Amino acid sequence: MQRLDNQRLIKKAKEIATSVLAKNVDQVDKEAIWPQEGIQTLQKEGFGGLVIPQAYGGQGQGLLTLAKVCEALGEECASTAICYGMHCVGSSVISVNATEEQQDKFITPICNGQHITSLSLSESGSGAHFYLPQSTLEQIDEDQYLLNGTKAFVTNGGQADSYVVSVVAAESESQVDQFSCVVVPSDTDGISWGEKWDGLGMRGNSSRIMELKNVMIPRNNLLGKEGDQIWYIFNVVTPYFLIAMAGTFLGVASSALEVAKKHLTRRYHTHTGSSLAQANVLQHRLGTLWAMLERTRQLTYHAATSFDHGEPDAMVALMAAKVEVADCVVNLVNEVMTLTGGISYRNGSKLDRSLRDARAAHLMSPTTEILRVWIGRAVLGLALLAD
Ligand SMILES: Cc1cc2nc3c(=O)[nH]c(=O)nc-3n(C[C@H](O)[C@H](O)[C@H](O)COP(=O)(O)OP(=O)(O)OC[C@H]3O[C@@H](n4cnc5c(N)ncnc54)[C@H](O)[C@@H]3O)c2cc1C
Repeated sequence: MQRLDNQRLIKKAKEIATSVLAKNVDQVDKEAIWPQEGIQTLQKEGFGGLVIPQAYGGQGQGLLTLAKVCEALGEECASTAICYGMHCVGSSVISVNATEEQQDKFITPICNGQHITSLSLSESGSGAHFYLPQSTLEQIDEDQYLLNGTKAFVTNGGQADSYVVSVVAAESESQVDQFSCVVVPSDTDGISWGEKWDGLGMRGNSSRIMELKNVMIPRNNLLGKEGDQIWYIFNVVTPYFLIAMAGTFLGVASSALEVAKKHLTRRYHTHTGSSLAQANVLQHRLGTLWAMLERTRQLTYHAATSFDHGEPDAMVALMAAKVEVADCVVNLVNEVMTLTGGISYRNGSKLDRSLRDARAAHLMSPTTEILRVWIGRAVLGLALLAD
């Protein structure tokens, strides 16, 4: 796969967004269909291994590029951006400690644009506490594990080629936070899928229930060591997760601001003969929204860069970025709905979709409530998960 620098990747992501995602977004939203053409185009253009190290054949990009790529995609289709973002989170988890066999089976096809992965962490039992799986992993012989459990809201559900699944040891004495992650190929016997995803927004996500019933996988599909996955959660899953979502929802906010700009410039009242752009109060409101978006964008870029440079307080900035983006996108889209009047309040308007997509920002894990607490704990020097 051709290796591209970050500027070319971001430029290409924008081109794919405007040429492919924009064309399909209405159908993806209306019919709640998984955005196949967009994802396949990204794979074909070298985005499959975006965050996989170059030594493994990937593009070797960090969180800043991931943020900007997801932002570019999110401007046109939030569903595609999250489906792609979850693939990147999953692929970073697989690649961080990949064995040679895992490189051959998963990483190489991901980098070659032939394999989509995703993340199966959430469960109905632990809800927003996505780091506490209850699905079980049992070693049945030297070479195989048995998996049982039910995962909820698996993005790319039924569409990906593999899933990164979190599990606890079946033995009762294992500690609840000492879980493992395994990679499960989609064609493994014992996997079944719940109903088609019919969300309020993010309707192309295919966020489905995944049943794992006596699913047998090779021991070689264990990622890292048994029970050390809390490390994965805070060092890999959470940073990539936070930035994939922050980037996506920045894109949604950014496109809403464009809707406002266009409306204010193009909307003329006959009784005044002037555009709405000439009204001081509307200029003031638009300027306030621009500043809200820009400061949130800069926080996100700063957080991603801090992580890429290995700075010690990067995690606090990443958590803050995701919550601030969630506040920003919900408030900004809501405000633009008012600024653009009745035209945006129609079914099928761009803001109709943006408003519904934006609402997922607070409730997708790590959720706003949980992140605000973690940020406070981190600032106080307390462990995020203690007590
Ligand atoms: C579109 C979409 C895509 C998703 N994709 C994925 C995916 O790819 N992989 C995956 O694993 N999961 C995914 N999820 C799941 C998601 O990330 C959340 O884990 C899940 O929506 C939250 O679980 P719940 O609905 O059971 O919330 P609940 O646990 O019922 O929580 C409800 C609310 O209470 C708050 N809350 C709960 N406990 C506390 C507490 N102790 N203190 C303060 N507040 C608390 C939560 O923050 C939340 O706002 C997705 C969800 C959506 C909507």
